[in-house]
Amino acid sequence: MNERSNTPVTVLGLGAMGRAIADAIHRGGHATTVWNRTAGRADALVAKGATLAPSPTSAVEVSPVIVVCLLDDESVRATLTPLAPLLTGRLVINVTTVTPKQARDTAAWAAEHGVEYLDGAIMAVPEMIGLPVASLLYSGSRAAFETHRELLELLGGARWFGTDPGIASLYDLALLGSMYSMFAGFAHGAAMMASEGVPATEFVEMAAPWISAMTIGLPHHAEFFDQGDYTTDVQSLDFNKAAVDTIAEASRDQGVGTDVIAAVQTLIDRQVAAGHGKDSFARVFEGIRRPAPTA
Ligand code: NDP
Repeated sequence: MNERSNTPVTVLGLGAMGRAIADAIHRGGHATTVWNRTAGRADALVAKGATLAPSPTSAVEVSPVIVVCLLDDESVRATLTPLAPLLTGRLVINVTTVTPKQARDTAAWAAEHGVEYLDGAIMAVPEMIGLPVASLLYSGSRAAFETHRELLELLGGARWFGTDPGIASLYDLALLGSMYSMFAGFAHGAAMMASEGVPATEFVEMAAPWISAMTIGLPHHAEFFDQGDYTTDVQSLDFNKAAVDTIAEASRDQGVGTDVIAAVQTLIDRQVAAGHGKDSFARVFEGIRRPAPTA
């Protein structure tokens, strides 16, 4: 079942992302009410026809759908808690970046107060909002996702991952975690080349296609992870240990920090020490999934 396309929507939070979201919703034909803690951020939206509410209370009471885009979980709780009685019977779509536990806790709080809750995670920067390249992940109320799909698709691609309100945020943070490690790896490579005066802008011409080409191996790694059988006759952990130790040694020789590559060494060494040197490099997954107890 689809919502009526003119469902009034309130957006709480007009940071860079909140403004982009409110703008896309308003352009999509919804009566859009906005509120922000600090005044002045709504000027451009108001000039286009959005309504600025002077308080969170007056913002919430005019719309059945409330989109929350604040800094973090703490600001979400600080803003929503006093509004609980008013939110009863409305839908809260929280696209603030939070942990899965925080999403589940907010969903439980919402349920206690008769508030329908959909948690969202934004895989996009504000400039991408409203374009097909933006991807937003949702979990929580399926009915809310289906009913308001048209609204959600004003922001970008919309995919629902299940009724567990924490799962969209888990995907978000897992994807970001993969990305940060990749960027840190690139920074390490660039630092190695910088030690001989090669600018990163030159190095990237080699690194970007190389990293991109290597992603072809990810599904193969994923199969190892899922099966838990790391038997291989190519590129064993022993083989990779030699390569990664050489990278670390070269880094030290060049006077470059080994923080990033040392983390990979630790993961390999843990598996080799446990007698798995003949297995695939993919086995490092086991050391991450079940970390060694700390002393
Ligand atoms: P900004 O820093 O630009 O804006 C933060 C917003 O939160 C502002 O509206 C700010 O209000 C408000 N805020 C902060 N603390 C409080 C509080 N205690 N009470 C009420 N309001 C508060 O962040 P973005 O808009 O960029 O990001 C918003 C969310 O979107 C974050 O969770 C972020 O992780 C997520 N996101 C952002 C992306 C991006 O590229 N920007 C990408 C993907 C996700 P005030 O103006 O008064 O300070």
